[in-house]
Amino acid sequence: MTLQEKDSQYLWHPYTQHKTSQTPIAISRGEGALLWDENNKEYIDAIASWWVNPFGHSNKFIADAIYKQLTTLEHVLFGGFTHEPAIKVAEKLMEILPKNQQKIFFSDNGSTAVEVAIKVALQYFFNKNEKRTIIIAFENAFHGDTFAAMAASGISFYTQAFQGMFIDVVRIPVPVKGQEEASFNALKNVIQKHNCAGFIFEPLVQGAAGMVMYEPEALEKLIEICKENNVLTIADEVMTGFGKTGKTFAMDYVNADPDMICLSKALTGGTIPMAITTFTQEVFDAFYDDDINKALFHGHTFTANPTGCAAALASIDLLQTEEMQDNIIRINKNHLAFQKKIENHPKVITARTLGVIFAVEIKSDSEESYYGSMRTKLYNFFIEKGVVLRPVGNIVYILPPYIMTNEQLQKVYKTIEEAIEMV
Ligand SMILES: *Cc1c(COP(=O)(O)O)cnc(C)c1O
Repeated sequence: MTLQEKDSQYLWHPYTQHKTSQTPIAISRGEGALLWDENNKEYIDAIASWWVNPFGHSNKFIADAIYKQLTTLEHVLFGGFTHEPAIKVAEKLMEILPKNQQKIFFSDNGSTAVEVAIKVALQYFFNKNEKRTIIIAFENAFHGDTFAAMAASGISFYTQAFQGMFIDVVRIPVPVKGQEEASFNALKNVIQKHNCAGFIFEPLVQGAAGMVMYEPEALEKLIEICKENNVLTIADEVMTGFGKTGKTFAMDYVNADPDMICLSKALTGGTIPMAITTFTQEVFDAFYDDDINKALFHGHTFTANPTGCAAALASIDLLQTEEMQDNIIRINKNHLAFQKKIENHPKVITARTLGVIFAVEIKSDSEESYYGSMRTKLYNFFIEKGVVLRPVGNIVYILPPYIMTNEQLQKVYKTIEEAIEMV
């Protein structure tokens, strides 16, 4: 039996209707920006395996750090114990995060990082005996698949089976060009009408919505409105963190600091699942009390796993090298040139770039749904050509590992141009 046949026998894949979708491709190895399947067909990983892998597959530097940690201390519980790798990660993050972030809490993935932030926002007011239970979020937001994260997410595709079972979330429009005032007014309105505890947002780029982008000035204004009204702000940097937008964090573009930040994808260079939620001292202090009930009773078995911490440290070291920073600039320049080349194509609605993120919207005769027919046609075309891209409806985006070569990038661009002609 091939790996594909055995897979069909046993495995249940994420976001997959097994009756109608094709059998998953069995990948046997990866190196740099490339992947090979069990038949040795080569693929360019143009989305860094769901945005987690900036430094390439099977990265030796991170692998060595992991091996060294595994043979020193692979894991120890974080309740009542601590260890150097966790402390080093905290120290490192303090150097690079917005200055107001003072405390870090470990968990396992993007959804849990968000779950922690939302629970902290709600308990913050509970601890202060203030009744605030509403969370504000953007339309078409994506914050993960656990319950509070799902509640905050606005893409109905992911959440429709669970409507009516969520914490209370009120949605406001994203301040994309021309929508800024509508967004500001909606936020003011929501805060006036409801007892709002927190506002969660994907800063500058909404990943799962199809790399929808908006300006830092708009976010600054939204954060200001929240601050004036004592509403906690949560920057979900799970997708944007660690260089994707051209700066270390998307919030580095914004002249207003959030109360909490969620990090996960790319934290460990795509090696070990790990996440972090960071907080201001002020948020932490609302839980600091003689009363044990005011503590944050949240934790995961693998909290602050030392091996994950070692991977995160190596990963941040790599990000900070001149070579990697140059790579980010190089990819951005390539994207901008490609954008210029195709944005006036008759079949292109619009194209946009921020950092290493590029997206193009393709004209479609029918209303394109998330997993609609154009999406399937595009996806299959890319796979056949050996390029891993996962379009969102009629939006094709690239989020390459930073180490992708110019030749590989050109192949990705060329394949997208062919796809635009084909559909
Ligand atoms: C992917 C993502 C999440 C969820 O992360 P998981 O690790 O898949 O649970 C949350 N927020 C944003 C912005 C994301 O892109």
